Amino acid sequence: MAKIHELSAELTNQIAAGEVIERPASVVKELCENSIDAGATRIRVNFINAGLQEISVQDNGSGIAKDQLDLAFTRHATSKISTQRDLFNISTLGFRGEALASIAAVAHVEILTNTSGANGVSAKFAAGKKLGQEDAAAPQGTKIVVRDLFYNTPARLKYLRSERTEILKIVDIVDRLALGHPEISFTLTNNNKPILKTVGRDDLRLDIANIYGRHLAEKMIKIQGQTPDFKISGLISSAQDTRSTRNFISFLLNGRYVKNYQLTQSLISGYGSKIAAKRYPIAVINIELDPLLVDVNVHPTKQEVRLSKEKELERLITQTITDTLLKNETVSSGVDNL
Ligand code: ADP
Ligand code: MG
Repeated sequence: MAKIHELSAELTNQIAAGEVIERPASVVKELCENSIDAGATRIRVNFINAGLQEISVQDNGSGIAKDQLDLAFTRHATSKISTQRDLFNISTLGFRGEALASIAAVAHVEILTNTSGANGVSAKFAAGKKLGQEDAAAPQGTKIVVRDLFYNTPARLKYLRSERTEILKIVDIVDRLALGHPEISFTLTNNNKPILKTVGRDDLRLDIANIYGRHLAEKMIKIQGQTPDFKISGLISSAQDTRSTRNFISFLLNGRYVKNYQLTQSLISGYGSKIAAKRYPIAVINIELDPLLVDVNVHPTKQEVRLSKEKELERLITQTITDTLLKNETVSSGVDNL
């Protein structure tokens, strides 16, 4: 056997990048989440050739200070947590300090960022290394352009699905982030052709109208419920407005879009026998909870989380849906009887 030796930083970054950056949509997710964490009120995403040629994300958030730029692209360097206590009390979407380093390990990255009215800075990274940096005029905020994704990891490139599937995955993640953040205006374009625009007026129904259609949005029903540990709110479709997949159900945990089969099931249970077999509702549910009750540190992509008191939450969801639908029926049949 060969002697044991430490891998180079370049190689460890590439290995780590494989976990966080699976496909173009992962780049979009990570960059948008950074923009959200930076307090942006406007986020613009453009991609070319399903994101393989180029993905750009521009925000009007806090920007990154010139002397912090190298750290921003260093693995496990973050401005979002510092102590072990913070790790179990996460209030930002990011905290692992992996995304920018990972993206720069598997693509060519250009950044233009500015923290204030003064001069900004631009820099280029490739294969995990900074190629150069210079002062540059820029509006407040950050623009990151990612080119030639997976150019140096051919295996990953081969594993990607059709161009159409990769585009759908990009659209899906931007849809979910926009639905989770109606206070932010999202614009998504494919080679500058518009796909999606939300207005950022903090109106979920308006966003649903833009994303799933106005006719459906108008008919969606407001829900609200709480226990001592959880507060839920959002919009759900009536039992008559259904889809053939669960893909139109989104859960946001303190603003983080998460995939959770149990929560989805608890929502569907709330409809009981009102909904036809193999049909699923459309719903956007925000869950507010003490960050101490959720462990986000389960998987590098942070879409899977572990919840304490999950049963309590599931019961709250089912009960709230059942009660809301019942009340809604009584109200509408009351109107019919007039
Ligand atoms: P994390 O989000 O887990 O902290 P990232 O690698 O995604 O790790 O980002 C590293 C750091 O760079 C962040 O902690 C943040 O300070 C800074 N940063 C990244 N993107 C932005 C942005 N769009 N606006 C402002 N700061 C950013
Ligand atoms: Mg991040």
